[in-house]
Amino acid sequence: MRHQRKSPASLILGILLLFTVGGIVYLYNSSLFERIPPTITVEKEVDWNLKEPITVHIKDNRGIRFVRAILSDGEKEAVLESREIKVPEESLDLNITFPKTGFGANKKVFELRVEAVDASKWNFFEGNRAEAKSIIKVDTKRPELSIIGNSYKIMKGGAASVIFRAQDDSMKALYIETNFGKKFYPTPFYKDGYYISLVAWPSRVENFSASIVAIDKAGNISKSHISYFLQDKKYKTSTIALQDKFLDGKIADLTAEVSPENNGLERLKKFKYINEDLRISNEDKILKVTSNVPTQMMSDFIVKTFYPLRNGKVVASFGDHRYYEYEKVPVSESYHLGLDLASNAQAGMQTSNDGVVVFAKENGIYGNNIIISHGLGVYSLYGHCSSYLVKEGDSVKAGDVIAKTGMTGLALGDHLHFGMYVQGVDVRPEEWMDESWLKDNIFSIINAAKKIIDR
Ligand SMILES: [Zn+2]
Repeated sequence: MRHQRKSPASLILGILLLFTVGGIVYLYNSSLFERIPPTITVEKEVDWNLKEPITVHIKDNRGIRFVRAILSDGEKEAVLESREIKVPEESLDLNITFPKTGFGANKKVFELRVEAVDASKWNFFEGNRAEAKSIIKVDTKRPELSIIGNSYKIMKGGAASVIFRAQDDSMKALYIETNFGKKFYPTPFYKDGYYISLVAWPSRVENFSASIVAIDKAGNISKSHISYFLQDKKYKTSTIALQDKFLDGKIADLTAEVSPENNGLERLKKFKYINEDLRISNEDKILKVTSNVPTQMMSDFIVKTFYPLRNGKVVASFGDHRYYEYEKVPVSESYHLGLDLASNAQAGMQTSNDGVVVFAKENGIYGNNIIISHGLGVYSLYGHCSSYLVKEGDSVKAGDVIAKTGMTGLALGDHLHFGMYVQGVDVRPEEWMDESWLKDNIFSIINAAKKIIDR
């Protein structure tokens, strides 16, 4: 068989081709010639109060060789930054500040354009280029805030109202901050830009102060302190000696009912479990259910005095601080967050105001527990019921009988545990059962504010 011999020229050509292809493959895969442009991270839209610089993050695996930032007002451009980086950096932050040259005076909206080029040899040694744009809205004006009216005083353990005006084209947050960390949220009131809120001073907190806070999207903040006359109130403290009959009766029964896994606990541990752990989880549930605040505009808030149990005799007060001891040794403590009322066994209890049943379930120490929302973040609570006459989601009318009193949960005798809540905070039910308190703190404040708003 004859072999066809290759000429030397075609051999050289073949070798050259091999080198060229190899070279291209090499270049294509070499990090020196990588083809991934830098990533530029900046918000698509920024509301800017000019106080803090706008930070732009730029990253590139090969290293950043050049950056440029340009601000345009639609007619003119200002170069904020343009620089070559001698030793390419893998990541870089540009801190954009507004030019102090008078550029963009009277303009509110700008476009920020950021360009970055990496140190790759790709693109005929030019490198990979990236560009990002951002709309900048300059806003240095604080929200307008003014108080129209508020309750004259607030009592420790009680509630108070405030009506105010808050205005900003791009409001981000509006709330009432307090000295104890709780925020209260207002409801739009009567006309655009006006708000109403109730606030509460928890009975376990020594002092009270509240300020309205308005923050716009650019971060401009306005604050307005609400001046209430602070009325202190001393709540009763008492020491209760725990009896074996109670521990082995109600406490053992309740444990078996709500958490049988704790049946084996020693009797005082069982009491601590019921009085502390279970109580906390029950109150947590109540907090969640009673924290919602309506966001729909309201023009009035008409409430009748609460009178949940006909001829109900007060058997325990709101705010009582109870210490428990066993054979003279302190064991535990608790706060009583409602008013205990008793009349006949299995007496009908009524809601004195319209509302929506937001909770009707077994709830540990509260037993069969009903909670009704009345609007403006106001809730009424009924504990230890023997039976329900309403269910969750029901709308109720003032005067409706909603349940029968009983002794479910941590109750020794048949009674109603009646609680009132303002945005999750338990407040003195006595205020809501008092016509003149309602008039001074709600009706007259609303009526006076409407007159001012209508002027
Ligand atoms: Zn009670």
